[in-house]
Amino acid sequence: MSGSNAKNILGNKYGRLTVIEYVGRGDDGRALWKCKCECGNYKVVSGDALRQGHSKSCGCLQKENRQMIIYRNRYGNLKHAQTSGGKTTRIYRIWDAMIQRCCNPKHDKFYRYGGRGINVCAEWKNNFEEFYSWAKRKGYDETLTIDRINNDGNYEPGNCRWTNMTIQGLNRGLQSNNTTGHKGVSYLKKTGKYRAYIKIHGKQVWLGAYDTIEEAIRARKKAEQKYMN
Ligand SMILES: [Zn+2]
Repeated sequence: MSGSNAKNILGNKYGRLTVIEYVGRGDDGRALWKCKCECGNYKVVSGDALRQGHSKSCGCLQKENRQMIIYRNRYGNLKHAQTSGGKTTRIYRIWDAMIQRCCNPKHDKFYRYGGRGINVCAEWKNNFEEFYSWAKRKGYDETLTIDRINNDGNYEPGNCRWTNMTIQGLNRGLQSNNTTGHKGVSYLKKTGKYRAYIKIHGKQVWLGAYDTIEEAIRARKKAEQKYMN
């Protein structure tokens, strides 16, 4: 490539890369160019790679695409998830639902999990295989569901086990008088609802059961204004 040819692509833009400086020739004789990426990083690339479309960013584009694939697998397009015979496996759906409940505020059960501060440990959240190998070690089979030993604790190896529905029902029954941390609002694990109540002259008055903690707190506040003022 002659000097004048080398100048040809100065200032050109290829994908996210803008050519800002001629560097010289590489070991293979190809012209090398210093480019500035839209993200602010610099990268030296051969003119061939730029013109042929092999280099479109400093590497940030590939990184974003990888993250997008992980994100889609986790939150969206399950067609691309771990599959068995073309179908999403049950264990994968359990993993995905667990993360959604805890991490996706738009999930309809988020308020009972992520909304209460319950999280999924990083090793499981970031890696299905980690979760899968734990599940197999702990005797997972298709009749069992994941259960947290401490109902206020996280999804993590030390706080989870595989149980059948009957055992889970018993645990929920025993813990159904747990409070929510809000005065006059208790969480009913049997129904998944929040019950509001108020004590008037030593007598418990029930104010109804609600789908969300916010509604139950509102009912309690309304009752406070009615009975306590
Ligand atoms: Zn970049």
